[in-house]
Amino acid sequence: MPLEIHQIPCLSDNYGYLVRDAASGAVATIDTPDAEAINAALDARGWTLTHILNTHHHWDHAGGNLALKEKWNCEIIGPRGEADKIPGLDRAVSDGDKVALGDSEAEVFDTPGHTAGHIIYHFPEDAAAFVGDTIFALGCGRLFEGTPQQMWSSLQKVAKLPPETKLYCAHEYTQANAKFAITVEPDNDALQKRSAEIDQLRAKGEPTVPSTLEIELATNPFLRATAPGLQATLGMSGADPVDVFAETRLRKDNF
Ligand code: ZN
Ligand code: FE
Repeated sequence: MPLEIHQIPCLSDNYGYLVRDAASGAVATIDTPDAEAINAALDARGWTLTHILNTHHHWDHAGGNLALKEKWNCEIIGPRGEADKIPGLDRAVSDGDKVALGDSEAEVFDTPGHTAGHIIYHFPEDAAAFVGDTIFALGCGRLFEGTPQQMWSSLQKVAKLPPETKLYCAHEYTQANAKFAITVEPDNDALQKRSAEIDQLRAKGEPTVPSTLEIELATNPFLRATAPGLQATLGMSGADPVDVFAETRLRKDNF
């Protein structure tokens, strides 16, 4: 039975997600940006929260952990690499671990870069990946605790998932990301087309998330360090992809 996935706009630009395994009734929230908003979404559906799956320790991802645990007595699962920073953590997981949600199962990948212990959750049977602040639609997380080499390697793990995988990221940053992406790859027709579609969605107040890996591979500059057009714009034709990625990230930081 497929997972039911409910997207919850939280704070100014975060997305929370409720994921329900229909066969068992188990419900996880992916991160806890806002306990009140998550409780309201649970109550509206009559769902009982059984799990919290944290991607990383930032407050807009784990700040609601304790309030939700107090109310629901749910199990908190989070990154081994930052276990000491995840409030209420019950079970630490890392690369290669599996997380069961009723009859559904997520694979855990370590994706350091944004934070040192960041992880993502991939539900292969549902072609869904909850990627936190590792990859955004047309963007990637800032390198607060990692190196360009680490983040590039993390993004390559995402890039190897099946192309139809839906990427559920934690922020609605897409429109600003598109404006930057066009400056580094102006001749990418797929990117130009996508940017126009994003403007239309945002004008109607609609989310641009999730996207698919296939779309990101074609348009997201942070996955495209080997693309000749991107390299040419940066004056880095033939350069090492890690260096191209690092330069792209630096330019975005200063955009
Ligand atoms: Zn973050
Ligand atoms: Fe965040």
